[in-house]
Amino acid sequence: MEKRQLIVRHIGQLLTMDGDGGPSGAFRVWETAAMVVEDNRVSWVGLDQDLPLRYQGMEIDLQGALVSPGLVDAHTHLLYAGDRSYEVRMRAEGRTYLEILQAGGGILSTVENTRSASDEALLHATRRRLSGALLSGTTSIEIKSGYDLTASGELRLLSLIDRLRQEGPWRVVPTAMGAHAVPPEFQGRPGDYLEYLTEEYLPQIGALAQVVDIFCEPGVFPVEQSRRYLKAAQALGLSVKLHIDELADGGGGYLAADLRALSADHCAFTPSKAFHAMAEAQVAAVLLPGTARYLNHGHMADARAMLDADGWIAIASDGNPGSSPTHALSTLMPWAASWLKLTPEEVWTGVTRGGAQALRLPWAGRLQPGAPADFVIWDAADYAYPVYYYGSNLVREVYIGGRRVAVNYGEVF
Ligand SMILES: [Zn+2]
Repeated sequence: MEKRQLIVRHIGQLLTMDGDGGPSGAFRVWETAAMVVEDNRVSWVGLDQDLPLRYQGMEIDLQGALVSPGLVDAHTHLLYAGDRSYEVRMRAEGRTYLEILQAGGGILSTVENTRSASDEALLHATRRRLSGALLSGTTSIEIKSGYDLTASGELRLLSLIDRLRQEGPWRVVPTAMGAHAVPPEFQGRPGDYLEYLTEEYLPQIGALAQVVDIFCEPGVFPVEQSRRYLKAAQALGLSVKLHIDELADGGGGYLAADLRALSADHCAFTPSKAFHAMAEAQVAAVLLPGTARYLNHGHMADARAMLDADGWIAIASDGNPGSSPTHALSTLMPWAASWLKLTPEEVWTGVTRGGAQALRLPWAGRLQPGAPADFVIWDAADYAYPVYYYGSNLVREVYIGGRRVAVNYGEVF
């Protein structure tokens, strides 16, 4: 049978992001390029003038537009009910994230809403967020559970994430985050809650998720408790990752390195020595500049320390109802450059290959022969532009597996 071919021609700049040499060498761009997709994978990339004659399929002419891999958002909490717009007022009155949490607000109000929401309501709300992510250029996206905080409820959330994964067209990567906060039933007893999860929850999640996450932070789940919990997960054959140092330096970077975690996320207060330990242990640093700025605690991750250590950084949205209410990673790109002091090349690496590395998706975030044809056509001619022009959706069209799944006048099909 003939292969289905799509030939993308006259690409002004094609970001293939398939350079060798690790984190600092991944960025790669072709000028005046073409790309051929056969069935659902990239089969050829190169200069437009070198396009082999044997390709005779359907052609689209981009007239100089920029093409990038679909963005990989390696850290989100997009499955939840309700919103927390009322917190804007509390923060304006000077209350901190931890104060709002301790007052029973914050994440615990989302837990209440999520526990009482039907499957259908949760699926509906999350599908809308995923559609928004797609329309802004994200094709692969991690979603964590974590707004129920009971064993059976967390398994329900994982099964809903799995349903969204199967529905597509987005590529969803599930993460089990029962240890997202200490639930009211265990108030003041984080260790008891982790023991409960270790017995009733961890052994059940294998069919629904392969990765376990925890909010390792002084005042929530401290390092030694986190270590015990994550080791129990690893003993069941699961991979681990951690939220660390979002609000203070709690030593989580060394724990991530010890455990050879897939990633350590936030890292707002992580010292450069800990970044070196992480880089050495192949732990990616997932940086969430939108959250640090949204909470306005004035601390940004020291991205340069991780890059100097030749470690991978991913830039992710942290989409969640409290500290980063967004689903649009691409709108954070200018801020990632400005706040984390990154070059356009480093930002692009962070939202493509870096995200793929953090999620261990070997073919995502790059466009090279053999990779799935997940790509974005931008309303821009130069790759610096989406890292410069803020607050506007510059995505024109989105393809997953060679199929057009979104165009920017607001429809997903
Ligand atoms: Zn998070």
